[in-house]
Amino acid sequence: MRRGLLIVISGPSGVGKDTLIHRLLELDPQLVYSVSGTTRRPRPGEKPDENYTFLTREEFARLVGHGAFLEHATYNGHLYGTFRDRVEKARSEGRDVVLKIDVQGAEQVRRLVPDALFIFVVAPSEQELEDRQEKRGSESREDMASRREIAKREMKYAGEYEHVVTNDDIERAVAEIRRIIEGARQRVT
Ligand code: 5GP
Repeated sequence: MRRGLLIVISGPSGVGKDTLIHRLLELDPQLVYSVSGTTRRPRPGEKPDENYTFLTREEFARLVGHGAFLEHATYNGHLYGTFRDRVEKARSEGRDVVLKIDVQGAEQVRRLVPDALFIFVVAPSEQELEDRQEKRGSESREDMASRREIAKREMKYAGEYEHVVTNDDIERAVAEIRRIIEGARQRVT
């Protein structure tokens, strides 16, 4: 059986990564999402072990000590990490694993798994991104302001990704990502 691909998806907060990934998984049963660990609090409606595995700082630190994370990073004051065993298990079963991680995490994965697929999602314009962030309304004013600052910094890393996809229209962007994944599958078989 072929080993599954590792697909890294990054992009500024509010660009629509969750919606894109949700749709990708709906359309492609060979894909699996790797649920990350985080110390941030759940947003309304978020489910443990579905959106994230919610951890205390102590639990997170213990897991780091045990080498449980493939990569981990601090984003807006909270810790986020990819569980090594979740990724390994799925890939060894031949499933292609999607990670939704920030630019620092992607940098670590680039060193560890050079043949991973790196996709950066951007909004059609800065204004559009701000409008989407406003609309989401799940963060405090303060949180939103700092996420916006981080987004500006993150945009500078887009050039380091093999693929940059504009999320101007969900279905169009999903189709583009699916073509990128299909291309990578063809290369490995
Ligand atoms: P949010 O709090 O909006 O769910 O996520 C904030 C940021 O953390 C996003 O850029 C998201 O991609 C990133 N993120 C989520 N999980 C991980 C992870 O496991 N590792 C890293 N490095 N970043 C993550």
